[in-house]
Amino acid sequence: MSALEIKNLHVSIDETPIIKGLNLKVNKGEVHAIMGPNGTGKSTLAYAVMGHPKYEITDGDILVDGASVLELAPDERSRAGVFLAFQYPVSIPGVTVANFLRTALNARHRHMEPPQGDISVLEFRKLLKSKMDLLEMDYAFGGRYLNEGFSGGEKKRTEVLQLAVLEPAFAILDETDSGLDIDAIRIVSEGVNAVKGPNMGVMVITHYQRILNYIKPDFVHIMFDGRIVESGDQELSLLLEDEGYDWVREKYGLAEAS
Ligand code: ADP
Ligand code: MG
Repeated sequence: MSALEIKNLHVSIDETPIIKGLNLKVNKGEVHAIMGPNGTGKSTLAYAVMGHPKYEITDGDILVDGASVLELAPDERSRAGVFLAFQYPVSIPGVTVANFLRTALNARHRHMEPPQGDISVLEFRKLLKSKMDLLEMDYAFGGRYLNEGFSGGEKKRTEVLQLAVLEPAFAILDETDSGLDIDAIRIVSEGVNAVKGPNMGVMVITHYQRILNYIKPDFVHIMFDGRIVESGDQELSLLLEDEGYDWVREKYGLAEAS
């Protein structure tokens, strides 16, 4: 079974331990929600899986289909099938959305086994338009510089557009819902639902349960102080919606996250 596996992961930033022994296995076809208050290390987990150099892995392992990716650079992890939709997408002036996506897709094709040829510009335009339709995006976005002057919602939609074009084996969505109104959450969720399937494992990182009304999780995990402290089904996220995170803090005797 194809899986993204995180084993006893410990991650430090500037020598400060942030992730403190985290275990998680996401099989293809499964949706896992990672919930937790701000500052518990959710984004740190996402960056560590992607291989951001600032996030030092001091113990444990991250495996894709049984092979460790710790020695792989972020672009190699991406080609190994791992995708991260950023909580705070960066802009790249001078690079259009269409060019960025076509370059990323071709890079992926070239590293396939066996290697595939580049997609033609015409073919790519068709693909991009069909994915933009899914996300109710204006085609004009293809010609705009990546995230340059985009609203928060437009940036998140562009992240999900990347997901839709690249169709990775494992997708991590870091607070894709934050800053979006309910209509935008519905649209990006429908976009995710349209591309996920038996060949994709998804980690939905979120503070709030509302996105999980649209992207139904198979498993819900509560992260606190760098660990997963509770795992369950969607009942757990509904409990968080009703009760907040105080009971988690009390139950685990942990200080309030700053
Ligand atoms: P979450 O996504 O759950 O809100 P983060 O992973 O962003 O949490 O942050 C976890 C902890 O790591 C926080 O205490 C935060 O201040 C710290 N942290 C995160 N990123 C950095 C960074 N780039 N440099 C220094 N500290 C960081
Ligand atoms: Mg975060």
